[in-house]
Amino acid sequence: MEEFYTKEEQEEIQLQLNELIGACPKCLTDANQKLIVKAFKLADRAHKGIRRKSGEPYIFHPLAVARIVAEEIGLGTKGVVAALLHDVVEDTDYTVEDISTMFSPKIASIVDGLTKLEVFFDNTESKQAENFRKLLLSMVEDVRVILIKLADRLHNMRTLDSMPENKRLKIAGETLYIYAPLAHRLGLYAIKTELEDLSLKYEHPNVYDDISKKIVESSLRQLNSINEFSAPIKEKLTEAGYKFEIKGRPKSIYSIWSKMQKKDLPFEEIYDVLAIRIVFTPLPGMSEKTQCWTIYSMITDIYKPKPDRLRDWISVPKANGYEALHATFMSSHGNWVEVQIRSERMDEIAEKGFAAHWKYKENSDKESELDNWLKRIRELLENPDDDSLEFLDDFKLNLFASEIVVFTPKGDKITMPNGATALDMAFEIHSDLGYRCIGAKVNYKLVPLSYKLKSGDQVEILTSKKQTPKWEWFDFVTTAKAKARIKQAFRKERKKFIGKGEKILEKYLTEKKLAINSKILRKLQTHYNAKNKDELYFKIGKGIIDLKDASKVLSDKPYNKWVRYWKLSFGFGKEGNKPKVDKKKPLLLTDDKEQHNFTIANCCHPIPGDDVIAYQDDDDNLILHSRNCKVAIKLMSSHGDRIIPAQWESQKILSYIAVIKITGIDSLGIVSKLTKVISDDQNVNMRSIHVESHDGIFEGLIHIYIHHTKDLNNLILKLMKIKGIHTVIRQERQNSK
Ligand code: MN
Repeated sequence: MEEFYTKEEQEEIQLQLNELIGACPKCLTDANQKLIVKAFKLADRAHKGIRRKSGEPYIFHPLAVARIVAEEIGLGTKGVVAALLHDVVEDTDYTVEDISTMFSPKIASIVDGLTKLEVFFDNTESKQAENFRKLLLSMVEDVRVILIKLADRLHNMRTLDSMPENKRLKIAGETLYIYAPLAHRLGLYAIKTELEDLSLKYEHPNVYDDISKKIVESSLRQLNSINEFSAPIKEKLTEAGYKFEIKGRPKSIYSIWSKMQKKDLPFEEIYDVLAIRIVFTPLPGMSEKTQCWTIYSMITDIYKPKPDRLRDWISVPKANGYEALHATFMSSHGNWVEVQIRSERMDEIAEKGFAAHWKYKENSDKESELDNWLKRIRELLENPDDDSLEFLDDFKLNLFASEIVVFTPKGDKITMPNGATALDMAFEIHSDLGYRCIGAKVNYKLVPLSYKLKSGDQVEILTSKKQTPKWEWFDFVTTAKAKARIKQAFRKERKKFIGKGEKILEKYLTEKKLAINSKILRKLQTHYNAKNKDELYFKIGKGIIDLKDASKVLSDKPYNKWVRYWKLSFGFGKEGNKPKVDKKKPLLLTDDKEQHNFTIANCCHPIPGDDVIAYQDDDDNLILHSRNCKVAIKLMSSHGDRIIPAQWESQKILSYIAVIKITGIDSLGIVSKLTKVISDDQNVNMRSIHVESHDGIFEGLIHIYIHHTKDLNNLILKLMKIKGIHTVIRQERQNSK
């Protein structure tokens, strides 16, 4: 390795290797250590000469991943070796067979699984639930593949700066919606939390900085409250002979943010809720369970408990292994305080998941304990369980969404993805059945095409010869097959009209003793505003263009020349001339709309000043979403390669629509006061106002045109000052009233 690395790098690599071996308590034997060194040497040779964007030698990455696998996940030799080799087949000339010969078929199959996962993620546009589930259960024979992939992702997130900028948002989005829930499900809380925080840091740098700053500012106040609350508890526990630690329950930046979003509350109201954790060393001769309850009972002597908030995860641990006693008490200031009571063992399991289990099993064969753990993970992945699925909502990938099985009238079984509709099923059986489908009978009841099927349904597809495919169908088909068939039908139809249009034009020109040539076509295209000749034919064929005034065009009067000149030189009326977008640079959103013709997303209506991203759709249109927008977050995870970070330039000319919601006490003249404040404001324009009032409370929705969030914030401050007004908030989504 001499010629490729500097002396310092060489020393650092050696140091990391030694630390890796030291961090793997399951790799103690000589044979195991030799295996690790051998894997390191192969990886080093394979990645030789390659450096990451940060400039550091690539080998640091597999070394770091292997270290996470050993230290933070708790895998043994096979896992560490596979982690060292995880990018070798993907990025270099070595094959799975090479690894099988050099190491073992088992290690080769883990590396193979990791390579396939990588390819799968890079090449799959939309990570549908059914794809993902199949991936987990069939592609992955060994659960270590998933664990090593998590470690790989964690290291990539820790070093996201050394990834290309255009990939960062994609990686962060995927992490939040695939890997963090996965880590949660496997009980790897520490990893889950870190993944979430890092995603937030890259997706919403401002939010992240803001919250971290506030945490620092509030920490002293928080510490004082904790000390005050825990002082009498400390006294009691010490008297009873316990060794323990009481600390504030760390709240991750991401968890604070998501609570702020969900509950629509400011930072303070979430952060200041006191939560503490008591971690104790169990006294000999008594079960941990009993001791948790003893400690609980001791606290009830000091503070009043809230019985309906007691959660017993000791008698029945969570499916992912979590154990603890959760309780809520009232402080002497009258605030509720959440208290978690855990033994040291429970605490470690809570942080490290099952990886910590083996440590507490004495006199057991450690490798077989690890096997038990891996088996348990496999079960977790295969058997969805309500308790641990609660964190997955419709927007996130439902990793474990099961397929549904439905039946034809003859009793044939058809497997469909969850969420499939009657129309999906029609296309699944035969494309003609899909094209002609007008509805279905499900369990003998008539239902529309868009009906969502459930497992066990008996479905009869109803057809009509008159039916033709409709564009609206895209809104409710879910399978790739149905979507492809519908598109195909439209392509066919278009071709038919193009042919027809060409014939009509030919006939017309023959009558005029002319023939189709490029000059005539160009004239007609310009006149009828068609992008190309196919569009011209299509419009003629469909009857959108009739050739009544074509003779005028063909005689080529000067007037027409002028029109053409004007159109060309000003770029008006010319579609399909969209500017190229450089995805590596943030998109600058200027007042000059000609430069980048972006549209504002309907779901979140961002305005200048908001954090935004642009999504490039199939027709290369740029659609601007707010970074908080749920639709955008979904797009980031599924179509990350089409996401372009965007930045507002100074905005003075264009106006954007924003909606504010106002509540207050209904009083005479309040509406005129509101409208006066708005119309006096030079920087905003009111478009509409809608007020509803009941029981003396009024609620108003005001649509206004503004240039920038600054103007909006100023206006909100002014409105807040009106007597009787309670809240003035910006409505993020226009549609949800
Ligand atoms: Mn990697």
